[in-house]
Amino acid sequence: MKRTLNEIADWLSLPHPTGGTAAVTGVSIDTRTLNKGDLFIPFKGDQADGHRFVRQAFDKGAAATLWQKGVPGAPEDVPVLIVEDPEQALQQMARRYRGELDAVIIGITGSNGKTSTKDLVAGTLSPYFRVRKTEGNYNNQLGLPLTILSLPEDTEYAVLEMGMSGFGEISFLSALARPKYAVITNIGEAHMQDLGSREGIAKAKSEITDGLQPDGKLFYDGDEPLLGPHVETLPESAAVPFGEGETCSLRLLSAEPSEAGSVFRTTGLAEGEFMIPVLGAHQAKNALAAILIGREAGLTDDQIREALKSVELTGMRMQTVEGPNGSLFINDAYNAAPTSVRAALGFVRSSALRNEKWVVLGDMLELGALEVPAHEGLAEELDPADFDGVCLYGPRMAHLFRKLEGKFPADRLVWSGEDLSPITGKLQSRLGHAPLILLKGSRGMALERIIGELADTL
Ligand code: ATP
Ligand code: MG
Repeated sequence: MKRTLNEIADWLSLPHPTGGTAAVTGVSIDTRTLNKGDLFIPFKGDQADGHRFVRQAFDKGAAATLWQKGVPGAPEDVPVLIVEDPEQALQQMARRYRGELDAVIIGITGSNGKTSTKDLVAGTLSPYFRVRKTEGNYNNQLGLPLTILSLPEDTEYAVLEMGMSGFGEISFLSALARPKYAVITNIGEAHMQDLGSREGIAKAKSEITDGLQPDGKLFYDGDEPLLGPHVETLPESAAVPFGEGETCSLRLLSAEPSEAGSVFRTTGLAEGEFMIPVLGAHQAKNALAAILIGREAGLTDDQIREALKSVELTGMRMQTVEGPNGSLFINDAYNAAPTSVRAALGFVRSSALRNEKWVVLGDMLELGALEVPAHEGLAEELDPADFDGVCLYGPRMAHLFRKLEGKFPADRLVWSGEDLSPITGKLQSRLGHAPLILLKGSRGMALERIIGELADTL
């Protein structure tokens, strides 16, 4: 972005400040990552007050700063805009900048698979267009405006992840970003705490259509009946279901794993075979959204096929990693909720990548009242006929452990509340069998450590 401070003052309906001709080339809320020419935005939190870092921001080359009205000590020797609320000012700036951009905006929400789908969609378009996407997980009321303000003016497609923890949040983000295309990947159980039920989650995710452009389209999980009532409000041609079900406009017929990823077949709007360098039928399903958006962008199926083959995904999502002694890890340790654990287990269950299969499951966090039943419920997914052994890590996994005791032989079932070493020890003893090892747990459990620790013990 390149705007004068006066232009930004206009966006915020503020008088032109002293030094208003200064050029602003970005925004920053953190002096550690501030770039020269940025407008610094201080937030007053419970813990820290960003206003204390304003001097530092200018030392690092900030062009100007916002300052919250009423906070004492506003600097007078540098360009400053006094605002009622810096967070709202950031959002308003993003709203106005978005209005001045020609980019096609694609908004992606869902309980699981937002980041994966974002990567698949952006990776499909990027060989052919100037494409930007949300970095990491910048998907909330701060991350989304910061992402929008970081888009170069000549961006053709911007793929934006939209996350939430309660009603109204996706609506807000969608109204701000005004997407031409929106995607709902699925409805799971995350944030049940705040939304009460899966119906509530479906309603909250469907808010992504609130800011959809009049000629826009929603691509949604056609296998989720709870989305039905929400998509009915859109014109028929504007609500496009994808998934496995027969009523889907783009259908996944099959997905076969290979060491390089998944080969999948589709029918409906696009017919044929595609490959993605990531495992799991759920990732192939996410790729359907990428195919649909690629077609909207005018790409041929061959162009889409070529791009999908070498899409780069953010790490730790069904990523294959070669381990010691011919073992193969499936690193899905980025995060875990019941739906995504089931998806990952389903993949390993039907996988022929290795003869011996172990699963390492870490606690699923943030489940509220569902915590105990959600952990216990995984027992029905775990059968000794399908898996050679199960390692459980974290205090909550004790619930699952109790359900599995007796079902699995004692030497094929390990639980450890805090110490990882009983688990690495067990896995190490199986390395000679070149097993497939699934790593799946919430972010806080950091199960990917196991890969390094196993390599170190050799
Ligand atoms: P977050 O809410 O943390 O931002 P996210 O929605 O961005 O998560 P990803 O990071 O893409 O989701 O994937 C999270 C986990 O969900 C991964 O383990 C991934 O394999 C799994 N997953 C991805 N897509 C689906 C899907 N369509 N259905 C079920 N699980 C999925
Ligand atoms: Mg994400």
